[in-house]
Amino acid sequence: MPPLADLHLPTLMGVSAVVMLVVAGIMTLFGCTQHIYRGFWWWTAAQWMGSVGVGLQLARDAWPAVLPLSIALLLQWPITLLVGLRRFHARSALPGSARTDLLLLAVVTAAWLIAWAGPGTLLPRVTAFSFGMALAFGYAAWVLGRLPARSRRPTLQALRLLLLVNASVQAVHLALVWSGAITPQPATPGMVLPMVLTTLCLLYLALVLTYERTGDNLRESQRQLRVLADMDMLTEVPNRRHFEELASQALAMSAPGSASLMLFDIDHFKQVNDSHGHAAGDDALRLVARCARQLLRTGDVVGRLGGDEFVVLLPETDVNAALHVADRMVAQIEDECRHQPYPALSLSFGAVQALPGESLSQALRRADEALYEAKRQGRSRAVAGIQEDGESVFSTSRPLGLTTS
Ligand code: GH3
Ligand code: MG
Repeated sequence: MPPLADLHLPTLMGVSAVVMLVVAGIMTLFGCTQHIYRGFWWWTAAQWMGSVGVGLQLARDAWPAVLPLSIALLLQWPITLLVGLRRFHARSALPGSARTDLLLLAVVTAAWLIAWAGPGTLLPRVTAFSFGMALAFGYAAWVLGRLPARSRRPTLQALRLLLLVNASVQAVHLALVWSGAITPQPATPGMVLPMVLTTLCLLYLALVLTYERTGDNLRESQRQLRVLADMDMLTEVPNRRHFEELASQALAMSAPGSASLMLFDIDHFKQVNDSHGHAAGDDALRLVARCARQLLRTGDVVGRLGGDEFVVLLPETDVNAALHVADRMVAQIEDECRHQPYPALSLSFGAVQALPGESLSQALRRADEALYEAKRQGRSRAVAGIQEDGESVFSTSRPLGLTTS
């Protein structure tokens, strides 16, 4: 294999221009046919302009007038790439802005144009070009390094490394020219090859980033769907199905016979709807759910069974303690109702202690019977259902709350 410096530069440039054109074409096709994200068209534009810039280098001897355009198109490459990355990571605070980037591009291009319009020797032009490229590549790599840790994917790190290699190649070239070790020359194979590699890396990166973002969005949609399927959207507590899942797990994890289950229902809730409207009824349901959530401990499970009926599972709680919870809940709801347009809500509770080996649905059935008994005894009260000789026995309860006491 011949040393890098011996490679035929025009051939290398021609091949590079073709590779970059193909990459730009693939990206355009991908962008037109797939779901892409902000920034993608900036990367594609960087590729198209970069490939034209390299291509025009081949014509510089025949048409010297194309040279400034070619240089501007080469200098834009790292900057346009960076603008695309900024747009893609719009939510991450990166140093500078797209405006700073474009200002830098304008400055390095103007510096090259001044050198070009000068005495016509190669040294100032090569200096302006290599310095501008080193600055643009180094700046892009620096900004990329400021991405938050969660966004620093291996592909981005590889791109950053390649940007640094490009910057270093230009800086070393500049140092060699200025130290007199080499004569000034507009381009070398050592400069062209890292650019082609970076181009390929950008193609890969654009596809991987698009793919990863689609995956992230899909996972987020799945999470939101799961919330929609599990939660009661009005009261933001688990719906019946999800409550049963959570409560069965909690019941299985607590010591046999140590948990209590309590069903509660708003008394004469239809009247709230009829007298104050459905929206006020919805507010009342939200209020009850909020009070229940605030009162319960970590590990307790609350759910809305439907309509105005709610349920809580209280692990490591006996039925008497559950009745105290009912008392506290009523007190809190009354307190909150003072600020509402409807009169204080009254609630009826049916509580049971889960029996060893009893399933959740069996305990729920007994709690429902206790709730029915609370309604029968006159509402606004909490009734405990106790199992004696296989028979359900219900406590008599004093009315709960200020309204009825
Ligand atoms: P009881 O004391 O026997 O419980 O009488 P009640 O009027 O509360 O009767 P019930 O519990 O059967 O009534 C439930 C009512 O809740 C019937 C329905 O109109 C109303 N409801 C059910 N879901 C909603 C809802 O999401 N929002 C509103 N505002 N009302 C609802
Ligand atoms: Mg009711």
